[in-house]
Amino acid sequence: MADLYEILEVPRDASMDDIKRSYRRLARECHPDANPHDPDAEARFKELAGAYEVLSDAEKRSRYDRFGSADGFDLGDPFGSGASGLGDLFDAFFSGGAGPFGGGRRAPTGPQRGSDLEVVARIAFNDAVFGAQTDVTVRTATACEDCDATGAEPGTSPTTCAECGGSGEVRMVRQSVLGQIVTASVCAACSGRGQTIDSPCPTCGGEGRLIGDSTYTVDVPKGVDDGSTLRLTGRGAVGPRGGPPGDLYVHLRVEPHDRFSREGDDLVEHMSIGIAQAALGVRLPLETLDGWEDLVVPRGTQSGQSFRLKNRGVPHLGGRGRGDLIVVVDVETPTKLDEEEAELLRQFAEMRGEDVAPADEGFFSKVKSAFQAH
Ligand code: ZN
Repeated sequence: MADLYEILEVPRDASMDDIKRSYRRLARECHPDANPHDPDAEARFKELAGAYEVLSDAEKRSRYDRFGSADGFDLGDPFGSGASGLGDLFDAFFSGGAGPFGGGRRAPTGPQRGSDLEVVARIAFNDAVFGAQTDVTVRTATACEDCDATGAEPGTSPTTCAECGGSGEVRMVRQSVLGQIVTASVCAACSGRGQTIDSPCPTCGGEGRLIGDSTYTVDVPKGVDDGSTLRLTGRGAVGPRGGPPGDLYVHLRVEPHDRFSREGDDLVEHMSIGIAQAALGVRLPLETLDGWEDLVVPRGTQSGQSFRLKNRGVPHLGGRGRGDLIVVVDVETPTKLDEEEAELLRQFAEMRGEDVAPADEGFFSKVKSAFQAH
């Protein structure tokens, strides 16, 4: 399959907006209605739409980036075929009569690898910042202890397949006018395993593994962000009859903080202060993730001004140092003034030579303006 980024003509680090813009432009150019005489236009348009469907969805896109496919691996079926790197290659060589890519997705010899699994772990904001351990429970396949994962009833053992002699494949030599033709196919008697089981283990039915829930403790490194994925090698489903395990991918969902938002490794907090505090200055106690600090707002602070507290942000993932804590001050204009407060402000305006609306409530209904607040 062609690279989805190439189809959409965007770099791999393109923003969602870039992707959207490029898709709109290409969709206009490639639309079959715009190319009535081009028989390939419809196929190109479909390819474009398919690429956009994946890359415009953050989750599908990250899966595509990691696995080269938006489908990834099958979640619900721990017994599904694992992502054995050689599977397709062997299928092509050992067709077994079901077409070049038909038949079992299994190397003819050696144990089959188990599936990769994925699970979502929700973690608290502070745990993502400072690191923590969390437990994840996943439906998986584990080795059957009764038969020691062999699939053979305790006291018995698997026997070498008489049909293929343990190789897992059957070769047929045929003479033809062109010479000798050798065809190899997966041994039907042992399904390519090279061994057969005369009396299957009653616990696992001969599979050598059992489906059930397993709980793993995951080390969450400090500094992870929402959407990070951890890979636990060998924590996926085990393969049948002693096959090696796949991997477990843990997708982290970090709960938002009620005051801080993250911008990379910086934490940003918005804080409202009154106009008098902004004009005269104030000392405000502020709770950071590491304890209380004093924020000194100087005299004459403007709305939107920000203050940076070094090294009170999120630790850099896998590195040294931390981001900063940034407090953005929003100066709030008072909306409900009583008579006395309004009078003081009017006096203040008079001293400053500022023109303000008179105390008369009717002023705003009498004076019309073409400007609309929005
Ligand atoms: Zn068993």
